[in-house]
Amino acid sequence: MYHLVCVNCGTTYPADEILYNCKKCGHLLAVKYHLDTITVTKATWEKRPLSVWRYRELLPVQIEPVSLAEGGTPLYHLKRLGEEMGLPHLYAKHEGMNPSGSFKDRGMTVGVSMALQLKKKSVACASTGNTSASLAVYAAKAGIPAIVLLPAGKVAVGKVAQALMHGAKVISIRGNFDRALEMVHELCLTHGLYLLNSINPFRLEGQKTIGFEALDQLGEIPDRFVLPVGNAGNISAVYKGFLELQEMGFINRLPMMTGIQAEGSSPLVRAIREKLPEVIPELHPETVATAIRIGAPVNAEKALIAIRKTGGLAETVTDTEILQMQRDLARKEGIGVEPASAASVAGIRKLIKEGMIDRDERIVCVVTGHLLKDPETVIKQCEPPIEINADLPSLLYALHL
Ligand SMILES: *Cc1c(COP(=O)(O)O)cnc(C)c1O
Ligand SMILES: [Zn+2]
Repeated sequence: MYHLVCVNCGTTYPADEILYNCKKCGHLLAVKYHLDTITVTKATWEKRPLSVWRYRELLPVQIEPVSLAEGGTPLYHLKRLGEEMGLPHLYAKHEGMNPSGSFKDRGMTVGVSMALQLKKKSVACASTGNTSASLAVYAAKAGIPAIVLLPAGKVAVGKVAQALMHGAKVISIRGNFDRALEMVHELCLTHGLYLLNSINPFRLEGQKTIGFEALDQLGEIPDRFVLPVGNAGNISAVYKGFLELQEMGFINRLPMMTGIQAEGSSPLVRAIREKLPEVIPELHPETVATAIRIGAPVNAEKALIAIRKTGGLAETVTDTEILQMQRDLARKEGIGVEPASAASVAGIRKLIKEGMIDRDERIVCVVTGHLLKDPETVIKQCEPPIEINADLPSLLYALHL
């Protein structure tokens, strides 16, 4: 039904081989389906509830999945913000509405199911926070132990709380995410744990359903698909999904894949701007958007192809622009997201000002994680509550009435 293929040299491997890199050249692997043998119709999909598992013919899981009803997230028309920007067709897909509050759940329902299918007894990941929260949740559901490595002091409090409460073994390392990933990768190779970072080709299969759902909800192909980029797994996954739909004859063109990074953490944007053949890692990435504070994006080689082949764009936004958009989404649209998530819409605001995109475009921005993930960054931006004595005159005084 499918096999693994190296995105660089094309070497293929059987589906049940546990492998994170090509044995010949070390590059990334992808899941390749025999699409000519898949006979599902759009009508069949449309009869099922909107969720990751609506699209199960294009997913690798053959057992009963470990599932908590992930996906099926709302696609909102950003009426007020779109009007301000002069974009009548601006939408946000709110991935914060997943079981653990981020799109990582789409990857983990598939990834943890694959761990069971491949008969693995334990799972692990490095994380800027959301991957660890999601892995903890799905490992709990599956009844297997999870180990997560976090960069000490750089993970939003809501995410640590989730990883701890759902029972993962949480290790804080005195180093950044990129180092945590190297360490957990080594640990998995030497100790037989199943690695569920986005280097895992099966996890990305779940994440591609963001694109499938957005298509179904919009009822047409968006012109542009915009994502915040950290490890670049999500943008690569969504692109791969669209390619498959095209090969199956379900769509006849691809959205322009557009990646947004924080200015202090933007190696992919630099590679696109300077037309580099590959991404040069940043040694000291820094941004308030901790979910995308990544200097060496694992899936860079896939993401460069996604952006270049679709005529997409890559842009940076400052922390100030990110936080401004976090507030605007919250106050003008009622959409509560964490800082990294606001980067996609902030990127569109910048690109439209720069005249880089067309006003008629249908644009889907993925907002990736929920506001409550990072309450500290929220509180810092807001006026504190006014505390008063428990009497009416004090209330009226406080309200200037
Ligand atoms: C993981 C994550 C990202 C980055 O996604 P990549 O696939 O690593 O590019 C962005 N926003 C949030 C909230 C995330 O949790
Ligand atoms: Zn190879």
